[in-house]
Amino acid sequence: MYRTRFAPSPTGPLHLGHAYSALLGYDRACEHGGAFLLRIEDTDRARVRPDYEAAIYDDLAWLGIRWQVPVLRQSDHLPDYDAALDRLIAMGLCYPCRCTRADIQAALSAPQEGAASLMPDGPVYPGTCRQRPMQDRQPGDAIRLDMARACAAIPAGLAFDETGALHPGRHTLDPTQLIAAMGDIVLARKDIGAAAYHLAVVVDDARQQITEVVRGADLFEATFLHVLLQGLLGLPTPAYHHHHLIRDAEGKRLAKRDDARALSRYRAEGASPQDIRRLVGLA
Ligand code: GLU
Repeated sequence: MYRTRFAPSPTGPLHLGHAYSALLGYDRACEHGGAFLLRIEDTDRARVRPDYEAAIYDDLAWLGIRWQVPVLRQSDHLPDYDAALDRLIAMGLCYPCRCTRADIQAALSAPQEGAASLMPDGPVYPGTCRQRPMQDRQPGDAIRLDMARACAAIPAGLAFDETGALHPGRHTLDPTQLIAAMGDIVLARKDIGAAAYHLAVVVDDARQQITEVVRGADLFEATFLHVLLQGLLGLPTPAYHHHHLIRDAEGKRLAKRDDARALSRYRAEGASPQDIRRLVGLA
């Protein structure tokens, strides 16, 4: 059965871009006679606010969206993300990293290190801490994935199907590209002390038995990492449907801080759910 999810982070008000993503996923679930699930990605304790979570439920219900209960809240499942991280550590694929942003920039500006790529979480890490063993882990260290080792540990030909119009078709993971363009990404950040987004998202897409992930095109590159993590953890790979981003009048993507585009503003000004559908091109 078709199952998709909407996975907002309660760190700001939902805006038109969220409405588009949620409505598109909901419509696809309805078309397939499937299920629409909700996941609250609230692991970023410093930025999460309960009133934003309450507003998510309120805005989605107002839009006419219905979701299966219970809602999955990531803060209720933190030990599961740590367990996934421990598994990757036990496979010998991780190392502790104490580099600051400034350390990484300094290493990257050294001429022999080559040019930085910017996918998906900033410059490719130059590997300064790569030889540190996990036993050397100190409080406050981030945990990184050794991408070359991870690529060597997965079966050849891992791939995913993209059903969105921007990158349609089947995409096969290319280890050379992953190592060069993504590099040793952070799996657990020092500031939250728990597994970060990439690990949580693959654990939860499997837990919620998602068959198609509907989300913004800004996460297309990260999908290669998600499929890699699924391969390493023995989790199924869903199909992906990355949609275009809703942009403001100047062509900039909407951000949580753009309160002008918050759904609550449109609601307060008397817009109907149908008006929102029209605004995002789903009427
Ligand atoms: N929590 C993410 C966001 O609000 C969505 C992640 C996803 O859909 O995989 O941008």
